Amino acid sequence: MTFVTRFAPSPTGLLHRGHAFSALTAFAAAREVGGRFLLRIEDIDATRCRPDYDAAIGEDLAWLGLAWETPVRRQSRHLAEYHAAIETLRERGLVYRCFKTRKEIDIGRAPHEPAAPYVGAPLAADEEAERLARGEPFAWRLSLAAARAALDGFEGLTFVEEGAGPDGETGLIQARPETAGDIVLARKDVGVAYHLAVVHDDALQGVTHVIRGRDLFEAAHIQRLLQALLDLPTPTYRHHGLLVGPDGKRYAKRDKAQTLRELRTAGVSAGELRAELGFP
Ligand code: GLU
Repeated sequence: MTFVTRFAPSPTGLLHRGHAFSALTAFAAAREVGGRFLLRIEDIDATRCRPDYDAAIGEDLAWLGLAWETPVRRQSRHLAEYHAAIETLRERGLVYRCFKTRKEIDIGRAPHEPAAPYVGAPLAADEEAERLARGEPFAWRLSLAAARAALDGFEGLTFVEEGAGPDGETGLIQARPETAGDIVLARKDVGVAYHLAVVHDDALQGVTHVIRGRDLFEAAHIQRLLQALLDLPTPTYRHHGLLVGPDGKRYAKRDKAQTLRELRTAGVSAGELRAELGFP
Protein backbone atom coordinates (compact mmCIF):
# COMPACT_ATOMS: atom_id res chain seq x y z
CA MET A 1 0.00 0.00 0.00
CA THR A 2 1.21 3.48 -0.77
CA PHE A 3 0.85 5.90 2.08
CA VAL A 4 2.14 9.43 1.72
CA THR A 5 1.34 12.15 4.20
CA ARG A 6 2.69 15.58 4.97
CA PHE A 7 2.99 18.34 7.50
CA ALA A 8 2.45 21.66 5.73
CA PRO A 9 3.05 24.64 8.01
CA SER A 10 3.07 28.28 6.95
CA PRO A 11 6.14 30.08 8.29
CA THR A 12 4.22 32.94 9.87
CA GLY A 13 5.48 32.33 13.38
CA LEU A 14 7.31 29.86 15.57
CA LEU A 15 5.85 26.38 16.02
CA HIS A 16 3.98 25.71 19.24
CA ARG A 17 2.64 22.58 20.96
CA GLY A 18 -0.33 22.39 18.59
CA HIS A 19 1.98 22.16 15.60
CA ALA A 20 4.12 19.56 17.35
CA PHE A 21 1.02 17.46 17.96
CA SER A 22 -0.07 17.75 14.33
CA ALA A 23 3.37 16.96 12.91
CA LEU A 24 3.82 13.99 15.27
CA THR A 25 0.36 12.67 14.37
CA ALA A 26 1.17 12.66 10.65
CA PHE A 27 4.69 11.33 11.21
CA ALA A 28 3.50 8.49 13.46
CA ALA A 29 0.76 7.54 10.98
CA ALA A 30 3.34 7.18 8.22
CA ARG A 31 5.70 5.24 10.47
CA GLU A 32 2.97 2.86 11.51
CA VAL A 33 2.35 1.66 7.97
CA GLY A 34 5.85 2.10 6.57
CA GLY A 35 4.68 5.11 4.58
CA ARG A 36 6.32 8.36 3.58
CA PHE A 37 6.29 11.63 5.48
CA LEU A 38 6.87 14.97 3.77
CA LEU A 39 7.41 18.47 5.07
CA ARG A 40 6.03 21.23 2.86
CA ILE A 41 6.56 24.90 3.53
CA GLU A 42 3.48 26.90 2.57
CA ASP A 43 5.05 30.29 2.16
CA ILE A 44 3.10 31.85 -0.70
CA ASP A 45 1.82 34.74 1.37
CA ALA A 46 4.87 36.97 1.26
CA THR A 47 3.09 39.55 3.38
CA ARG A 48 3.06 37.16 6.37
CA CYS A 49 5.80 34.53 5.87
CA ARG A 50 9.40 34.99 6.98
CA PRO A 51 12.56 33.05 6.13
CA ASP A 52 13.68 32.92 9.76
CA TYR A 53 10.43 31.19 10.72
CA ASP A 54 11.00 28.78 7.84
CA ALA A 55 14.47 27.93 9.16
CA ALA A 56 13.08 27.57 12.69
CA ILE A 57 10.47 25.03 11.51
CA GLY A 58 13.19 22.66 10.28
CA GLU A 59 15.23 23.06 13.45
CA ASP A 60 12.28 22.60 15.78
CA LEU A 61 10.94 19.52 13.98
CA ALA A 62 14.40 17.92 13.90
CA TRP A 63 14.71 18.60 17.64
CA LEU A 64 11.34 16.93 18.12
CA GLY A 65 12.78 13.81 16.50
CA LEU A 66 11.06 13.99 13.13
CA ALA A 67 12.67 13.11 9.82
CA TRP A 68 11.30 13.96 6.40
CA GLU A 69 12.20 13.54 2.78
CA THR A 70 14.30 16.12 0.98
CA PRO A 71 14.21 18.35 -0.94
CA VAL A 72 11.49 20.15 0.97
CA ARG A 73 8.97 21.83 -1.32
CA ARG A 74 8.63 25.55 -0.74
CA GLN A 75 5.54 26.92 -2.41
CA SER A 76 7.02 30.37 -3.00
CA ARG A 77 9.38 28.82 -5.56
CA HIS A 78 6.57 27.35 -7.63
CA LEU A 79 4.23 30.27 -8.18
CA ALA A 80 4.28 29.80 -11.96
CA GLU A 81 2.79 26.32 -11.54
CA TYR A 82 -0.11 27.67 -9.49
CA HIS A 83 -0.69 30.47 -11.96
CA ALA A 84 -0.82 27.92 -14.76
CA ALA A 85 -3.52 26.05 -12.84
CA ILE A 86 -5.52 29.26 -12.44
CA GLU A 87 -5.05 29.89 -16.14
CA THR A 88 -6.59 26.52 -17.04
CA LEU A 89 -9.57 27.40 -14.86
CA ARG A 90 -9.78 30.80 -16.54
CA GLU A 91 -9.74 29.29 -20.01
CA ARG A 92 -12.70 27.16 -19.02
CA GLY A 93 -14.65 30.16 -17.73
CA LEU A 94 -14.51 28.96 -14.12
CA VAL A 95 -12.97 32.09 -12.61
CA TYR A 96 -13.78 35.77 -12.93
CA ARG A 97 -12.20 39.07 -11.98
CA CYS A 98 -13.68 40.65 -8.87
CA PHE A 99 -12.85 44.31 -8.25
CA LYS A 100 -14.79 44.59 -5.02
CA THR A 101 -12.91 45.39 -1.85
CA ARG A 102 -13.67 43.57 1.38
CA LYS A 103 -15.28 46.79 2.59
CA GLU A 104 -17.62 46.96 -0.40
CA ILE A 105 -18.59 43.33 0.08
CA ASP A 106 -19.29 43.87 3.76
CA ILE A 107 -21.58 46.89 3.29
CA GLY A 108 -24.60 46.49 5.51
CA ARG A 109 -23.04 43.83 7.69
CA ALA A 110 -23.24 44.46 11.43
CA PRO A 111 -19.89 44.13 13.20
CA HIS A 112 -20.99 41.05 15.15
CA GLU A 113 -22.24 39.21 12.06
CA PRO A 114 -19.85 36.75 10.45
CA ALA A 115 -18.78 37.65 6.90
CA ALA A 116 -21.29 36.09 4.53
CA PRO A 117 -19.92 33.97 1.72
CA TYR A 118 -19.63 36.16 -1.34
CA VAL A 119 -21.21 35.12 -4.61
CA GLY A 120 -20.68 37.41 -7.56
CA ALA A 121 -20.44 37.43 -11.31
CA PRO A 122 -18.07 38.74 -13.96
CA LEU A 123 -18.49 42.38 -14.94
CA ALA A 124 -19.71 43.35 -18.37
CA ALA A 125 -16.77 43.31 -20.79
CA ASP A 126 -16.66 47.09 -21.33
CA GLU A 127 -16.75 47.95 -17.63
CA GLU A 128 -14.09 45.35 -16.91
CA ALA A 129 -11.86 46.72 -19.68
CA GLU A 130 -12.27 50.23 -18.30
CA ARG A 131 -11.35 49.24 -14.78
CA LEU A 132 -8.38 47.22 -15.99
CA ALA A 133 -7.22 50.21 -18.03
CA ARG A 134 -7.42 52.33 -14.88
CA GLY A 135 -5.16 49.80 -13.18
CA GLU A 136 -7.69 48.89 -10.51
CA PRO A 137 -6.68 45.88 -8.42
CA PHE A 138 -8.81 42.76 -8.64
CA ALA A 139 -8.94 39.19 -7.33
CA TRP A 140 -9.63 36.04 -9.29
CA ARG A 141 -12.64 34.31 -7.81
CA LEU A 142 -13.84 30.80 -8.52
CA SER A 143 -17.41 30.93 -9.82
CA LEU A 144 -19.61 28.44 -7.97
CA ALA A 145 -22.25 28.79 -10.66
CA ALA A 146 -19.79 27.94 -13.44
CA ALA A 147 -18.30 25.11 -11.38
CA ARG A 148 -21.73 23.66 -10.71
CA ALA A 149 -22.53 23.74 -14.40
CA ALA A 150 -19.19 22.20 -15.36
CA LEU A 151 -19.61 19.33 -12.92
CA ASP A 152 -23.33 18.86 -13.39
CA GLY A 153 -23.94 19.64 -9.74
CA PHE A 154 -21.86 18.98 -6.64
CA GLU A 155 -23.48 15.66 -5.69
CA GLY A 156 -20.53 13.68 -7.03
CA LEU A 157 -18.12 15.49 -4.75
CA THR A 158 -17.43 13.26 -1.80
CA PHE A 159 -14.40 12.49 0.29
CA VAL A 160 -13.48 9.97 2.93
CA GLU A 161 -12.86 11.29 6.42
CA GLU A 162 -10.98 8.85 8.62
CA GLY A 163 -10.78 11.30 11.50
CA ALA A 164 -13.61 13.66 12.30
CA GLY A 165 -14.82 17.15 11.58
CA PRO A 166 -15.84 19.61 14.30
CA ASP A 167 -19.34 18.10 14.52
CA GLY A 168 -18.10 14.53 14.48
CA GLU A 169 -18.43 14.18 10.69
CA THR A 170 -16.72 10.99 9.65
CA GLY A 171 -16.79 8.35 6.91
CA LEU A 172 -18.02 9.27 3.46
CA ILE A 173 -18.67 13.01 3.41
CA GLN A 174 -20.66 14.95 0.87
CA ALA A 175 -18.65 18.07 0.05
CA ARG A 176 -20.46 21.39 0.42
CA PRO A 177 -18.21 23.83 -1.42
CA GLU A 178 -21.10 26.27 -1.79
CA THR A 179 -20.92 27.27 1.88
CA ALA A 180 -17.71 29.17 1.17
CA GLY A 181 -19.13 31.23 -1.70
CA ASP A 182 -16.99 32.23 -4.69
CA ILE A 183 -13.57 31.83 -3.11
CA VAL A 184 -10.60 33.99 -4.01
CA LEU A 185 -7.94 32.03 -5.90
CA ALA A 186 -5.51 34.88 -6.39
CA ARG A 187 -5.14 38.48 -5.28
CA LYS A 188 -2.95 41.34 -6.29
CA ASP A 189 -0.78 41.19 -3.17
CA VAL A 190 -0.95 37.43 -2.62
CA GLY A 191 -0.76 35.93 -6.09
CA VAL A 192 -2.15 32.52 -5.17
CA ALA A 193 -4.55 31.51 -2.46
CA TYR A 194 -3.90 28.69 -0.05
CA HIS A 195 -6.52 26.25 -1.36
CA LEU A 196 -5.20 26.10 -4.88
CA ALA A 197 -1.58 25.58 -3.84
CA VAL A 198 -2.54 22.84 -1.36
CA VAL A 199 -4.60 20.91 -3.88
CA HIS A 200 -1.95 21.28 -6.57
CA ASP A 201 0.88 20.16 -4.31
CA ASP A 202 -0.94 17.28 -2.64
CA ALA A 203 -1.57 15.82 -6.10
CA LEU A 204 1.91 16.56 -7.39
CA GLN A 205 3.56 15.01 -4.36
CA GLY A 206 1.32 11.96 -4.44
CA VAL A 207 -0.14 12.64 -1.00
CA THR A 208 -2.59 9.84 -0.21
CA HIS A 209 -3.54 10.98 3.29
CA VAL A 210 -4.05 14.55 4.42
CA ILE A 211 -3.56 14.50 8.18
CA ARG A 212 -4.11 17.89 9.79
CA GLY A 213 -6.06 19.74 12.46
CA ARG A 214 -9.83 19.77 12.61
CA ASP A 215 -9.79 23.53 12.06
CA LEU A 216 -9.09 22.74 8.40
CA PHE A 217 -12.06 20.41 7.93
CA GLU A 218 -14.09 23.08 6.10
CA ALA A 219 -11.16 23.60 3.76
CA ALA A 220 -11.55 20.00 2.55
CA HIS A 221 -14.97 20.89 1.11
CA ILE A 222 -13.50 23.61 -1.06
CA GLN A 223 -10.40 21.63 -1.89
CA ARG A 224 -12.55 18.72 -3.05
CA LEU A 225 -14.18 21.04 -5.59
CA LEU A 226 -10.82 22.26 -6.85
CA GLN A 227 -9.63 18.66 -7.22
CA ALA A 228 -12.64 17.90 -9.41
CA LEU A 229 -12.18 21.02 -11.53
CA LEU A 230 -8.46 20.45 -12.00
CA ASP A 231 -8.92 16.73 -12.56
CA LEU A 232 -6.74 15.79 -9.59
CA PRO A 233 -7.08 12.78 -7.30
CA THR A 234 -8.73 13.16 -3.90
CA PRO A 235 -6.67 12.04 -0.93
CA THR A 236 -8.16 10.45 2.16
CA TYR A 237 -8.62 12.97 4.96
CA ARG A 238 -7.85 12.45 8.61
CA HIS A 239 -8.62 15.58 10.61
CA HIS A 240 -7.43 15.30 14.16
CA GLY A 241 -8.65 17.00 17.31
CA LEU A 242 -6.97 20.19 18.38
CA LEU A 243 -4.77 20.24 21.37
CA VAL A 244 -6.11 22.42 24.14
CA GLY A 245 -4.14 24.21 26.80
CA PRO A 246 -4.76 24.11 30.55
CA ASP A 247 -7.39 26.85 30.06
CA GLY A 248 -9.34 24.57 27.72
CA LYS A 249 -8.60 26.79 24.73
CA ARG A 250 -6.71 25.62 21.69
CA TYR A 251 -3.12 26.64 21.18
CA ALA A 252 -2.69 29.24 18.50
CA LYS A 253 0.10 31.45 17.25
CA ARG A 254 -1.94 34.58 17.89
CA ASP A 255 -2.36 33.81 21.60
CA LYS A 256 1.40 33.61 21.92
CA ALA A 257 1.08 29.94 22.83
CA GLN A 258 4.31 28.67 24.25
CA THR A 259 6.63 27.91 21.36
CA LEU A 260 8.76 24.78 20.99
CA ARG A 261 11.74 27.09 21.19
CA GLU A 262 10.67 28.45 24.56
CA LEU A 263 10.03 24.96 25.86
CA ARG A 264 13.47 23.87 24.73
CA THR A 265 15.15 26.89 26.32
CA ALA A 266 13.25 26.18 29.53
CA GLY A 267 14.92 22.76 29.60
CA VAL A 268 12.06 20.58 28.37
CA SER A 269 13.44 17.65 26.41
CA ALA A 270 11.96 16.46 23.12
CA GLY A 271 11.16 13.12 24.77
CA GLU A 272 9.24 14.85 27.55
CA LEU A 273 7.23 16.92 25.10
CA ARG A 274 6.49 13.86 22.94
CA ALA A 275 5.32 11.96 26.01
CA GLU A 276 3.13 14.89 27.07
CA LEU A 277 1.53 14.84 23.62
CA GLY A 278 1.02 11.08 23.74
CA PHE A 279 3.83 9.89 21.47
CA PRO A 280 6.64 7.48 22.32
N1 GLU B 1 -0.46 25.65 5.61
C1 GLU B 1 -1.64 25.41 6.36
C2 GLU B 1 -1.52 25.97 7.76
O1 GLU B 1 -0.48 26.35 8.18
C3 GLU B 1 -1.97 23.93 6.48
C4 GLU B 1 -2.30 23.32 5.19
C5 GLU B 1 -2.78 21.89 5.24
O2 GLU B 1 -2.36 21.11 6.11
O3 GLU B 1 -3.53 21.53 4.34
O4 GLU B 1 -2.51 26.07 8.47
